[in-house]
Amino acid sequence: MVPKFDVAIVGAGVAGCLMAAGLAKKGLSVCLIERKPISKIGVKVCGDALIADSKLKEIGFQPPKGYVERELYGFKVYVPGLDVITLKAKVLLLDREGFGRWLFERALDQGVTPFESTIAINPIISDGWVKGVKVKRLNEPPLTINSGLTVDASGVASFLRRKLPREWWVSEEVTRYDLALCYREIRLAEGFDDDYCSIYYDQAISPMGYLWIFPKSKGKVNVGVGLRMNVKAPLREVLHHHLACDPRFNSSRILHAGWGVVPARHPLKCFTSNGFMVIGDAAYQATCGLGEGLRPSIVSAYLAAQEAAEAAYYGLEDLWGYNVKYLKTLGLAQVQSAAFTYYFERLSDERRNKLLSNFAEGSFNLEAFLNFKIDAKILAHSAKLGLQQFKELIGEWRLVREVKSIYTAYPEASKNYPEWSLRADNFWSKIKASTY
Ligand SMILES: Cc1cc2nc3c(=O)[nH]c(=O)nc-3n(C[C@H](O)[C@H](O)[C@H](O)COP(=O)(O)OP(=O)(O)OC[C@H]3O[C@@H](n4cnc5c(N)ncnc54)[C@H](O)[C@@H]3O)c2cc1C
Repeated sequence: MVPKFDVAIVGAGVAGCLMAAGLAKKGLSVCLIERKPISKIGVKVCGDALIADSKLKEIGFQPPKGYVERELYGFKVYVPGLDVITLKAKVLLLDREGFGRWLFERALDQGVTPFESTIAINPIISDGWVKGVKVKRLNEPPLTINSGLTVDASGVASFLRRKLPREWWVSEEVTRYDLALCYREIRLAEGFDDDYCSIYYDQAISPMGYLWIFPKSKGKVNVGVGLRMNVKAPLREVLHHHLACDPRFNSSRILHAGWGVVPARHPLKCFTSNGFMVIGDAAYQATCGLGEGLRPSIVSAYLAAQEAAEAAYYGLEDLWGYNVKYLKTLGLAQVQSAAFTYYFERLSDERRNKLLSNFAEGSFNLEAFLNFKIDAKILAHSAKLGLQQFKELIGEWRLVREVKSIYTAYPEASKNYPEWSLRADNFWSKIKASTY
């Protein structure tokens, strides 16, 4: 007999587990399809830093204390030749595996049916609708799972979405430039008493990328480097070269090393189709420039579950509210970050300094910074620094203001999407072609 569920979700990462639990709690029949064996669910190469800001508070999400290894006060941003910029935020350094497993167990507790060691191979499409998913287990024939709603939570591979017809709005093309390859190590090292995560933007060390040092508990430090996939660089050597200049790593020991890919672009412009939704990394919802995808995956899973639970039917129009709610809230800060990052990455260290020197006075709230709130204090400071700095600030502000106005006008109904989408595409192609 062909199994049938109200909702089939592909991917038991943060996004998939949370959405599955949310829907099952509302009484829907939900299955969760994961290619990993059950013993590996929760394992993910990650920086482990969850930004616990007002967005998580609003949706009432809090990771259990047992999986928080250390609580930090934000990020210190280092750019050569500049004073450090402090971005204040509550940052939780997680026991990532334990956290992932906890999310999975929560989904099971709500009655979600798991298909572990099971690879989703194709969406089932009929009459312009996604009607389920074809899956495969090792040494077993393919199995068809029918579902009213099918959700792609397969991470950066965006596995199901990429197999949908090209003309569907959700089928936005993603290139290697839109992804960052990361190499990260967990090390045992002494001397990390600072209660901040450190991020380094240095064109000489990591061109078009970033390097991080996140102190955890019990002498553990999470360190890594991420670069756009179109930039060829020996990432491991890049990281080791940087750590060799820091005496705190002199006698450090590697506990775990691994690779991973993180979205490095703006979120998709549309996350829904008939009978289909995409959430988390599969929807490219990580914050560009920071590689921060945990909080966005949590928020998107919550919003998508809420929308699906309230939908009378799973048509594009019924699910549209998820696009609007995500892109007008967290998405709005993310498109500004993406616009800023595309612009910033192409600047020389000298121009980066001029731009960032406008912010190098004191410290900022991360949420306000990601929303590029330029207040009177920053403007006055900039005016004092000189014309070049002021010009850089205004250039950046113009750009961020433009993208903000486009996404603030995100259509409330799908019929207005094609016109809006053209406007957004024009903006992104202009900025990617560096015509600013
Ligand atoms: C090196 C690195 C460092 C990072 N550091 C941070 C950080 O410090 N803070 C932060 O907020 N974010 C960080 N991120 C990003 C964060 O880890 C992701 O944004 C987040 O885990 C995304 O969750 P997800 O559920 O969308 O996807 P994933 O966690 O990737 O889950 C997707 C799941 O789908 C499964 N899957 C894929 N294809 C199939 C298929 N065909 N069939 C069945 N199952 C499938 C996968 O096995 C996986 O379990 C980092 C990412 C990387 C790579």
